[in-house]
Amino acid sequence: MAERMPVLFSAHGNPMNALGGTPFADFLGRLGRELPRPRAIVVVSAHWQASRLAVTAAERPETMHDFHGFPPALFALRYPAPGAPALAAELCARLQAAGCEARADARRGLDHGAWAPLLFLYPAADVPVVQLALPLGGALTGHVAIGRALAPLRDEGVLLMGSGNLTHNLASADLRARELPVAPWAREFDAWVAERLEAWDLDALARFEERQRHGRLAHPTSEHYEPLLVTCGAADGPRPPRVSHVFTGFEHATLSLRSVRFD
Ligand code: ZN
Repeated sequence: MAERMPVLFSAHGNPMNALGGTPFADFLGRLGRELPRPRAIVVVSAHWQASRLAVTAAERPETMHDFHGFPPALFALRYPAPGAPALAAELCARLQAAGCEARADARRGLDHGAWAPLLFLYPAADVPVVQLALPLGGALTGHVAIGRALAPLRDEGVLLMGSGNLTHNLASADLRARELPVAPWAREFDAWVAERLEAWDLDALARFEERQRHGRLAHPTSEHYEPLLVTCGAADGPRPPRVSHVFTGFEHATLSLRSVRFD
């Protein structure tokens, strides 16, 4: 049996991070060198949602440039990691067994929520990657259940990873500068998430909108938060995991870059 893989929640922040040269990009590079080498990676990104769950099943998933108004250098980036159709089929089977209908999508590529962190975590792009869509609608506790259904893959050398941001309110972000004083509500919400993770209070985390006074301000829509819940489900077990806040900080005044490793 392969070594049990950690689970990772990675921020991705501004797509410009993908061009490198930022403290966050440097951190991802270091983290990739520290993590055990996975057989494959399953990523849940904020940028793919589907009513019926789906997983990428292409042999060679394309690099999607799912953003606009950025410099050509960003559109020139490619992350040519292979797909893993057999793993995609296994994911569908595991999700189905857990009562979540899922389909394999042979056309969908990798969105920037998936490839932007992977570009630094695994720069050689030689580890197969499968992306899993976030379920649309329903209680957020369902996201935790999806993560639990995938947890056994950790014993098969698969790195389960969520990619989002623990605060994400673009209307409040100041995109003119990366380094700015942090809005107090963003700092408070981010700290609350960290504290609930340390207490391993998955119920509070899944009900963040009612449990933290800035929940709705931090996430007017919750897609950047939801990958955390899948990650938590994957990290859950008979005992709470070791929670390591491997990167903390903000960019653009309100965008949390906190990234968390679970062992
Ligand atoms: Zn995003």
